[in-house]
Amino acid sequence: MIELLSFVAGFAIAPVANGYVVALATVCCVQYFNHLMNRGRLKEVAQGLRREVDDLCVEMRDISRDRTISRLENQILRDVLGQAEFSKSLEAMLKRFIPNPTDDFAAIVQLDASLEAAHQSRGLDAESLRQLMIDPELVTRLRAERGLLLSGAALQRSRLLSGFSTEDRRKVSTLYLIGVGDNEDLFAVLVTTRLIGIGVDEDEQIELSKRLMATIAGGLRQNLELRKQAQQLQFTQEMLELRTIADASADQPMRMIERFLSRLVELVAARRATVFLNPSASAESARVLVQVGEPLGPTIQKAWELHERSLATVGLVYNQMTVFERSQLERFQIDSLISSAITIPLTQNARTIGLLVLTREHAHPLPPGRRQLVAWAGGTLSAIIQNALSLAAMEREARQDGLTHLANRRTFDTHLKKELERIADGRLDACSLLLFDLDRFKLVNDTYGHQGGDAVLRETASLLRREAAHLRSTDRLVLARYGGEELAVLLPGINLAGAIRIAESLRRAIETTPVQFEGKSISITSSVGVAVAPYHGATASELLTSADQVLYQAKTEGRNRVCVAAASAPAPL
Ligand code: GH3
Ligand code: MG
Ligand code: MG
Repeated sequence: MIELLSFVAGFAIAPVANGYVVALATVCCVQYFNHLMNRGRLKEVAQGLRREVDDLCVEMRDISRDRTISRLENQILRDVLGQAEFSKSLEAMLKRFIPNPTDDFAAIVQLDASLEAAHQSRGLDAESLRQLMIDPELVTRLRAERGLLLSGAALQRSRLLSGFSTEDRRKVSTLYLIGVGDNEDLFAVLVTTRLIGIGVDEDEQIELSKRLMATIAGGLRQNLELRKQAQQLQFTQEMLELRTIADASADQPMRMIERFLSRLVELVAARRATVFLNPSASAESARVLVQVGEPLGPTIQKAWELHERSLATVGLVYNQMTVFERSQLERFQIDSLISSAITIPLTQNARTIGLLVLTREHAHPLPPGRRQLVAWAGGTLSAIIQNALSLAAMEREARQDGLTHLANRRTFDTHLKKELERIADGRLDACSLLLFDLDRFKLVNDTYGHQGGDAVLRETASLLRREAAHLRSTDRLVLARYGGEELAVLLPGINLAGAIRIAESLRRAIETTPVQFEGKSISITSSVGVAVAPYHGATASELLTSADQVLYQAKTEGRNRVCVAAASAPAPL
């Protein structure tokens, strides 16, 4: 180049005016520059070609990798999809991943919360399998990446192995998670300690796993749908069965509740079901309405009941259906006998009226389908108890007098009739009737007002109830409000002497117990007519007439006394 330039310079400097030489030199220069430019262009072309060759090589490698993966995939799928049943296909697939289940494991975990989490597994014990949960953060990552590799700190953080047995934990150094789903939707995850593919690298193995999971996704989804439908069908059948029990014996609410709970206990594999009522103040004071389940030994029974009360206390604080697994029970120190439990508040107009406690002896968690049943049963039981309580209240109302809560006249007449039938049949010797009428009651009303009169009636009734509780042979004793301020006492099996003694002691009790009303003390007396069946009458009306007549006599003789009917046949004392 330098030579050329010095030549051209020399030529120019030299005063040789030869046009040919100049032309030749110009042509040479042009040629030379042309050559230089061509060289540059060729270099670019060569580089471009080299790049293309490189790309081609990568593509070739990809194709060959793809072919290797496809070959492996085809081999596996031929084996796996050749199975008659889908579950067998999955089994065969997992066998490919885990040839040796003593050193490795794999599981397909489905993500639908309404179904049991684990679907199929190999190399995991049942407890580890139940504890295998994929936390939501991992699910989000899997949704984006489809394949994850966890080891070391990341594996610890994921808490995937937290519920694992030591034996199963030992099998894990690296854990691969491969999503199963279609498009954006992920509905299951393959969790495995090993991947398939000898002779291919880890990325290729993960790619192969993704492809295999994509192939089974459709089948798995169908299978899950079927399981969901079967579960729903089972739930419907069980619900109908329990509903039938509830409807069958609505007239005997306690027996029905017992049968309802017994069946529920069977369906959820519980040992006992206990219903606590009125827990408004505290679970300690709550009353056990009903308790069903296999009998326990006397010592165990006591401890179990204490645990149930502790569970009720916790359950009432939570005030929503709560499933207690072993770890929670350990925290509350309720785990010595009970391995799992469920508490369901029973509500009435959004107010908690009670609590159902289901206790189980084994640690298997309640499958999601069963939880749905328990939740439904809790709601139904609330309604049943509510109906039963209002029915009981209605029945009580029909039997009782509203002011004094003593039996009403109709109830008294029914009892009287029954006792007289017993006498007629020879099953009973005697039955005494005491008729009380409060003396000068109008005056009480006039002096203290109707409220004061009501208070006297109420308190006199309570007094008779308390006094009657101290009597011997009070088996079928009936206390009734027979009319306005007339009270009746029926004493089956009590003869005349006993009747007079009781009448006298009750009369004295009324006389000596003034009623306190608005800071005032109201003294009251009563007149009593006594008649004893069969001597003073064999029928209800005869006996009542006899008692009424002597009651009138007691009034006319000066009140505050007991008068005894004159016998149609002499009454033995
Ligand atoms: P005697 O000693 O003769 O029985 O006098 P008495 O004032 O009690 O007379 P009587 O038995 O005829 O009157 C009953 C009164 O009791 C009449 C009625 O106003 C009153 N009475 C009836 N039922 C009730 C009630 O539920 N509450 C109140 N406060 N008073 C009642
Ligand atoms: Mg009267
Ligand atoms: Mg009176």
